[in-house]
Amino acid sequence: MVVINSIEKGIVIDHIKAGLGAKILNYLDIDTEKHSVAFLMNASSGKYGKKDVIKIDKVIDVDLAVLGLIDPDCTVNIIEDHIISKKIKPEMPKKVTNVIRCKNPRCVTSVEANAPHIFHLINEQNREYRCEYCDDIVSMKGDNVNEIVHKKWIGNQSAK
Ligand SMILES: [Zn+2]
Repeated sequence: MVVINSIEKGIVIDHIKAGLGAKILNYLDIDTEKHSVAFLMNASSGKYGKKDVIKIDKVIDVDLAVLGLIDPDCTVNIIEDHIISKKIKPEMPKKVTNVIRCKNPRCVTSVEANAPHIFHLINEQNREYRCEYCDDIVSMKGDNVNEIVHKKWIGNQSAK
């Protein structure tokens, strides 16, 4: 049993699918000089078997869209005065900018350094996102989250 000291004010990101915690931490890029961060890997969880947990001191707003993109099954607990004041279930964002990189070498984002990488959610079940420019598809599903999957978009090109 691992105990992380309780925090007065901060957030606890719980029920992160085991293995995705590091990815979330890396993306959030918390300033550890100002905030203390506790990261628990592979904790036992009745619900999912194994989970990762992240606690961040003195931060109460995080990028929920990105959490929803990386792991929509996690739970965000906002802690104020040592108690959970709010529980948030992040949702998969409809649109993300500069989170997923388009790897299509012919895409305008590969040619122009300043072009923003914009992706739109096209399939919630398979957690698929489509590049705004070249229509390449990236799946964020399950264990594939680390090895971004590319498929060619074959749907209705005008459906935006
Ligand atoms: Zn693209």
